[in-house]
Amino acid sequence: MTISSELRTLSDEHAAHTYHPLPVVIAEAEGVWVTDADGRRYLDMLSAYSAVNFGHRNPRLVARAKEQLDRVTLVSRAFDHDQFGPFVTELAQLCGKDMVLPMNSGAEGVETAIKTARKWGYEVKGVPADQANIIVFAGNFHGRTTTIISFSDDPEAHEHYGPYTPGFRTVPYGDIDAVRAAMDGSTVGVLVEPIQGEAGVNVPPRGFLRALRELCTEANVLMIDDEIQAGLGRAGDTFAAQFEDVVPDLYILGKALGGGIMPVSAVVANRDVLGVFQPGQHGSTFGGNPLACAIGREVVAMLNEGTHQRHSKELGAYMHARLAELSGVSYVSGRGLWAGLHLDRKARPISERLMELGVLAKETHETTIRLAPPLTITREELDWSLEQVRTALGEH
Ligand SMILES: *Cc1c(COP(=O)(O)O)cnc(C)c1O
Repeated sequence: MTISSELRTLSDEHAAHTYHPLPVVIAEAEGVWVTDADGRRYLDMLSAYSAVNFGHRNPRLVARAKEQLDRVTLVSRAFDHDQFGPFVTELAQLCGKDMVLPMNSGAEGVETAIKTARKWGYEVKGVPADQANIIVFAGNFHGRTTTIISFSDDPEAHEHYGPYTPGFRTVPYGDIDAVRAAMDGSTVGVLVEPIQGEAGVNVPPRGFLRALRELCTEANVLMIDDEIQAGLGRAGDTFAAQFEDVVPDLYILGKALGGGIMPVSAVVANRDVLGVFQPGQHGSTFGGNPLACAIGREVVAMLNEGTHQRHSKELGAYMHARLAELSGVSYVSGRGLWAGLHLDRKARPISERLMELGVLAKETHETTIRLAPPLTITREELDWSLEQVRTALGEH
């Protein structure tokens, strides 16, 4: 028995079965490579769902985290600390907005955006008490809290968790007329993924985000842009919504904001929106802690340099061109170093075969494989991994 298989027995026995992981047990990682408990190396083509955009143990981020570990890690928001003001200022500047509300997990960021939109609706827009609605899209994924799964149309995510939180209206993704039809005077926000990650890296029809931006402005409704997976370089820009030159009212950031080291999320907006909060009305013990802020500041500094976004755009275009040549693929979706391979067959056997070939990628839904290598991947490494993808598809 290998060390990995012994460890897997422990996970199978004692962890709740909320995931169906590939049978690999990772013990170490560096850059785009991970090593399992028995010393086998794999190229990581998932990047923890884009939380590891800057590579495993990115040296700049690890150095900054270690430095902060030796200073102060947690004080709660009951006190200010020397990383907090700079972090919220630098992140607000990156987003071109005034204010930041830091949280931890992505789902908390989404919950915060929902609370912000409702409160703004009642206090600024003048929506009658408890009447606020938020428009969401079919195929959405925004996290796992009770409220968020209330408006998920994925049966596995949704079923048997009721009673569900009301106040959400679902329309087809990319259908601007449906959004318009669903809006009324009590609509406070439209919550949108600029590219739907979990649904299969689905890019909306050209012009949709721009039309949505115009409609939200016209109707005095907040455009809430969930960039948790699509943003921070993944789709080739700092924010995925930039591919249509769209600036939302609220950004929700997460995943890569924590540099692959810890959960860091945030809602970023202007004062006329985030200004609705007064002391005691929202909070988090860990949100905006010194270690998170120190890491987040280094992430923002890296994004300000723009090299990861450029690399994602350039190498991503190359990756998409290569993927389009593969047989067994119905179509390829995505942007930048981010692709959904929509197969003409079940995806799980392909991701299992890829693992044997030394590439870790994960299926999303039945017939789609998501490719999302760390943005630090070299062209040689990408070529090698695409060669394995070609082999895996050719054999099945
Ligand atoms: C992952 C994800 C979330 C939830 O983030 P967690 O950190 O897992 O809570 C929300 N929205 C999108 C688009 C995501 O991909």
